[in-house]
Parts: sequence; structure tokens; C-alpha cells
Amino acid sequence: MKRIGRTKKAMALLGALCMMFGFAACGAGNDSQSHSSNQSDTSKQSADGPIKVVASINQWGTLAKEIGGSDVNVTSIVNTVSVDAHDFEPQTADMAKLQSAEIVLVNGAGYDSWASKSIAKGTTSVSAATTVGASTGDNPHLWFSKEARKATAEELEDVFAKARPAKAKQFAARLKTWQANETKLETSMKEFSQQHKDATYGATEPVAYYLMDDLGFADKTPKGYTQSVSSEGEPAPSDLQKFQHLISGRDVNLLINNTQEASNTTNLLTGTAGRTEVPVVDVSEQMPQDQTTLTGWITTLVKSIDKAMADFKASEANHQKVDTGSDGNGSEQSGQSEQPGTSTNSSQQTPSTSDNSSVPSNEGQTDPGK
Ligand SMILES: [Zn+2]
Repeated sequence: MKRIGRTKKAMALLGALCMMFGFAACGAGNDSQSHSSNQSDTSKQSADGPIKVVASINQWGTLAKEIGGSDVNVTSIVNTVSVDAHDFEPQTADMAKLQSAEIVLVNGAGYDSWASKSIAKGTTSVSAATTVGASTGDNPHLWFSKEARKATAEELEDVFAKARPAKAKQFAARLKTWQANETKLETSMKEFSQQHKDATYGATEPVAYYLMDDLGFADKTPKGYTQSVSSEGEPAPSDLQKFQHLISGRDVNLLINNTQEASNTTNLLTGTAGRTEVPVVDVSEQMPQDQTTLTGWITTLVKSIDKAMADFKASEANHQKVDTGSDGNGSEQSGQSEQPGTSTNSSQQTPSTSDNSSVPSNEGQTDPGK
């Protein structure tokens, strides 16, 4: 995995995605449905055979496949990491798919309103947002939330069983298997948060917000920056500068880079991270095609984040940081360690502030504790 700590400011987005994920669309644009091998023998099914499920996005479509197995036939409309998910514009054929579905599965919370708005009357629909009470204005990247995954999986089992009561046992069994895997992921996330109690991050776009929250990270991204990018706007220069200082001062352990929302601004930030050895963890909106399950994908991301934390620690020796936290509330107990280079000094003020790049002031540093 070479998805961490790389500076790739010069790469075009698609090229970067191809290198990172190696997905088929870059080369051969073929077999986008090739992994749905269990759907071939529909002829053996009774008249009301597999449930025709249409998901707006592949993150949830893949979950439907796991719970439904051979008793569902799932089509995901947004199916690659090479689209701008927030600005997706469906084609006529996409709308036709939605209309022909027996069950429509959407994310909700304004992420895919093109699909939510187009559900035919009488069609059963499942909205991940609804299962956890999220609505427009909330962070919509709900597939990264353990609560939303759990609630949506349960909801899918429920609607599938209602649609095909004869298969209820199978749906229940698959849900149980899924829950066992998800529990393993949850355990690993809990372990991570226990081992990294003061972990911090910044994000080019709040795609992984729920995941980082589940991992116990504090989000240090300047609020103004996050608000701007969340509403598809340009961040104010002052917010961007604040963010760059945060990274260049290594006040975040890692930078989450949304590869599907790349821009000059995000390239600037990943470039800054590269120069100061702040690891960059690339996260896409849609599930990359080299992944087969939602839980598996997120498990991979957790491993990447774990490695990024190790990389950050390993690079610390290269960036001896002058701790100016003695004024005010230096919340870290260990913050008073002596600077090896200052020798004779015994006062609390560390005099060696002569490092060229001047660490930014700590004003944004108080514990966000919310
Ligand atoms: Zn997003």
C-alpha cells in the first residue's frame, strides 16, 4: 500500500486514482459488474426471484449485496471513484433504473437527492440517513459511521424479509455474518482509539468525519475551511493559511485527503504535508473497485490510518518542535520535556526559538472537547 505520506500535487486526479487504486475504468472501462457473480443463475428462481435493488451509490449497494446474497440483484448507479459524487448528474438510463427497482437504497441527507426525489410511488425505499435520524445539513458521508452501517444493514434485512418472506431465514443469517465482521472492525477501532488517545487530524474535505470520530480523533481542520468546502465553496485565504500553518507546524498527526474532491487547494495542502512529513491518507467517497465489501474497505482504511500514525511518530525526530505550550494551558503533561539542544538552560522558557520556519502560535490549540 503506497497510499500514505505521498506528495502528489503534480498528478492529475484521474492518473493519481489509477495509480492508487488500479481500477479498471482507467484502462479498459469494462466489466463494472464483474464481481456480482452470484447473480447469474436467476433462471432457477421462482417467478418472484431475486429482489431487484437499485442503490444510488456503491457503498450502500455493496452492503445490500452482502445482506441479500443470491436473493437480490443489486445495481449501483454511482459506481466509481472518478466522479464528483456531490455533483453527480444522473443520465436518463440511471433514472430508468431507479424507476424499475423493487427496492431503492439511498444515502439521504442531501447526498443523493437526485435519487431520493425519483423513487416511484409504491416502491420500497431505504435511506441510510433515515435509519440514524440524519438529515440535510448533517455530514452526509454516513457509510463511514459505524452506527449508520449497523442500522442500515438491519433495515435492509427487514425490508428484504418483507419482500421475500420465504427467504427470511437466509437474510437473517447473512445479517448475522455481516454483524460478526463489523464487530471485528469495531473492536480494532476501539483498540486504536485506546492506543492513540490524543490523535489529531485535518481533512481536505470532511469525507471521513464519522470514521475519524469512531477512531477517537480530534478534528483540527479550521472550521471556516470545513464550512466552505462542505458547501462547495472556496475557502477564505485566511482559513487556508491557518490550515497550512497547522500542517507545517505538525499540529496534526495526519491529513485526510479526499481524492474525489481534488483541487488546487487540496494539492496545496497535500504538498505542505509532504514537505513536513505529515502523512496523507487518501480517502475516496465511493468504494474503490478493488474492494469487495464495505466493512472490508473501511478495515483497509483503518490500517492505513494506523500506519500513518506510526509514520508520523517515526518522523518526529526530524522535526524537533519547540514547545511553546508553557504559556496558558499546556494541556499535555509531557509537554515540559527538556529540549536537548538548549543545554544549560533551566528556566521554563525555552530560548531556542531560532528555528527558521517559526512554529505558529498555539491559539487554535485548545482541546475542542465537544
Ligand atoms: Zn464528500
